[in-house]
Amino acid sequence: MKILIVGSGGREHSLAWRLAASKRVTEIVCAPGNPGMAALARCEPVNADDVEGQVTLAKRERPNLVIVGPEAPLVAGLADRLRAIDVPVFGPSARAAILEGSKAYSKDFMARHAIPTAAHGCFSDPSVAKAFLGRFSAPYVLKADGLAAGKGVVIAQTRREAEDEIDAMLAGKFGTASARIVIEEFMAGEEASFFALCDGETAVALAGAQDHKRVGEGDTGPNTGGMGAYSPAPILDEAMQRRVMEEIVAPTLQGMKAEGRPYRGVLFVGLMIDKTGPRVVEYNCRFGDPECQVIMARLKDDPLPQLLACATGGLDGCARLERFTDHAVSVVMAGAGYPGDSRKGGVIGGLRQAGGVPGVTIFHGATMSRDDEIIANGGRVLNVTAIAPTLSEAVARAYRAVDLIDWPDGFCRRDIGWRALERS
Ligand code: AMP
Repeated sequence: MKILIVGSGGREHSLAWRLAASKRVTEIVCAPGNPGMAALARCEPVNADDVEGQVTLAKRERPNLVIVGPEAPLVAGLADRLRAIDVPVFGPSARAAILEGSKAYSKDFMARHAIPTAAHGCFSDPSVAKAFLGRFSAPYVLKADGLAAGKGVVIAQTRREAEDEIDAMLAGKFGTASARIVIEEFMAGEEASFFALCDGETAVALAGAQDHKRVGEGDTGPNTGGMGAYSPAPILDEAMQRRVMEEIVAPTLQGMKAEGRPYRGVLFVGLMIDKTGPRVVEYNCRFGDPECQVIMARLKDDPLPQLLACATGGLDGCARLERFTDHAVSVVMAGAGYPGDSRKGGVIGGLRQAGGVPGVTIFHGATMSRDDEIIANGGRVLNVTAIAPTLSEAVARAYRAVDLIDWPDGFCRRDIGWRALERS
């Protein structure tokens, strides 16, 4: 079977790596891919966001399955375009990807279907928005409606700050993405990520994970795309996963179907969990990066039948993916300056030695190759991923590998997994 993977990050590298181990996969094409993926697959120079280019590539390659990694092409309708030419695709239609593409839509959807989440309002008029703040006390949660590369959420500590932020967002701080904003109640609790596979009719639980969004140790400093992750998430034990499936995933799938937007692909639910149970922080219409890396690293079953069933139906007839290595952790190495402008162009050495640490796999993010060298080419550059029977051993293996990487411009957090380690 021939698989086309759309994207170029560590998430897509981990998907390519896992599928390369499938007995049924004969060929993997990545578009555009990265040097890590080039070791497993053929890379074609078509950007993930280039919907026309991806459709042309799929017409030429005729893959048996396309897996779309990032959200932007899904929200822009890539899955619809591929289905229209009879190419099976793992990923939701644009009408279903709206769960991530519009926070106003997803919040109103949850209200319509009584799915537990923070109380909210949607606004495009600053004075109405400011008056609504009176319903809540600090801190205030303000969100751009549309996609803003993970930067569209602001938590304001004072009412004054919230009012200034409302003005800035509605004046175009995030371009058209913040022409409309959502204001919501602040939820306290512990965050976790939950992933379910869906074929429009049926949803099956895949796994839980937790990530570290802040750049600094102790979860401090600016938000990033994610500095590390681990799976499983202790807070998402079997009982909590069942609750998430029953109280959140099942009504989401039913609601989307009832609204004529059947959801296919992976549903990534960002959760806030407190003593009353799980509530939705946000939906995403694709795997998380770096959560995907830890889930793929743990997975012992071949996921291909389930991924195909998400694309073509029949997930209820597939066995649940349930054979996992006990623990996985992924440490993100980023270029100095990230999440601001990061230093590019540095040569990365020691990858072979680091990849030789037992249980370790290194997924590439923003790298490029020049001659025989791997060069840093963006913010999040490497995902040093380790599996082990315990989380502490997985963490020790990952950092042993990090220490073998010779990249003076790179940095990573040294405390990935701290919350789960403290708990155990
Ligand atoms: P989002 O992009 O919606 O996931 O928001 C980014 C981050 O902001 C989340 O991971 C949370 O840490 C935080 N956040 C978003 N909404 C809320 C909320 N209602 N209460 C508390 N924290 C929130």
